[in-house]
Amino acid sequence: MKDIVVSGARPTGNLHLGNYLGALKQFVAMQDSYNCYFFIADYHSLTTHPNPKDLHQGVKTVLVEYLACGVDPEKVTLYLQSDLVQIPELYLFLNMHAYVGELERVPTFKEKVRTQPDNVNAGLLTYPTLMAADILIHKATKVPVGKDQEQHLELARVYARRFNYLYGAEIFPEPVAFNMGNDLVKVPGLNGAGKMSKSDDESTSIFLKDSAKELHKKIMRAVTDTGPTMENQPKTEGVQNLFTLMSYVSDPEAIAYFETEYNAMRIRYGDMKKQLAEDMNTYLTPIREKIEELSHNDAYLKRVAEEGAAKARISAQNTIDEVRAIVGFKSF
Ligand code: AMP
Repeated sequence: MKDIVVSGARPTGNLHLGNYLGALKQFVAMQDSYNCYFFIADYHSLTTHPNPKDLHQGVKTVLVEYLACGVDPEKVTLYLQSDLVQIPELYLFLNMHAYVGELERVPTFKEKVRTQPDNVNAGLLTYPTLMAADILIHKATKVPVGKDQEQHLELARVYARRFNYLYGAEIFPEPVAFNMGNDLVKVPGLNGAGKMSKSDDESTSIFLKDSAKELHKKIMRAVTDTGPTMENQPKTEGVQNLFTLMSYVSDPEAIAYFETEYNAMRIRYGDMKKQLAEDMNTYLTPIREKIEELSHNDAYLKRVAEEGAAKARISAQNTIDEVRAIVGFKSF
């Protein structure tokens, strides 16, 4: 039997290069050989209180972008998280055995407490149990995600193990974070620090829909430094990030050329950025064109979402029926 795979992204804006390399590219690579469930994590997006008027458009944008990246609804089960009532039901069961202390220790939660003290809601605290429910609802074993999700996956394993142990049932396998290329990916932003993120200033993320002009403008403004002052000098984070971005989209010869120039203290960051912008544009153009084409095809999107939800519900309901029986719920 094929391994079961589950993953998704939140519809909180356009997908960026980090989403693509950390998740979407993996989805496409896995769809021929695994039993894949890919979803749009619209419940997860509620932690940031999106305007109700914008929510549907956000979901549509991400559905279009999944399809534009090559996710094939004929090969995978593609659905909206909010179309499966079984997910919040499993979330409820898992929350009963999730402890506040362990949730408060999750680094992404601690970070939110620090950066948005006015909106530390219970949904944010229990984000890892909802994510565990997303995965366990289909009894997935592999979860194609970026490196930023590693910690959440650890908790999903804890909840799977704990549920099995407490009820003496072998219902949930332990899911692992997965990348076809072995290492989990962390794509940096253009601001000289950290990872590319939707919550950053938009000018420091590379979106799949960005035009050649936007890419050029953003990349030319990326943070670097005043240049190396000795041969083979270790790189500052901003410069290293540009080399990392190049490693995804440029020819090895171009990368080797700029490495040599850097090590010999001759590098002109402007030239390197121009090359990166050009290569990024070549890399993203087919996806951008597909986004444009699909965004006008509402009838197709509706069919994809409905058929995906119908398929996903079957697997989700089977799991919930088992869980309810294990927990002790019975019909009269
Ligand atoms: P999110 O946009 O946070 O809902 O994330 C959706 C997927 O994209 C998850 O699998 C993340 O791990 C992945 N992802 C988000 N940002 C990055 C990044 N900068 N590098 C690699 N993967 C990422």
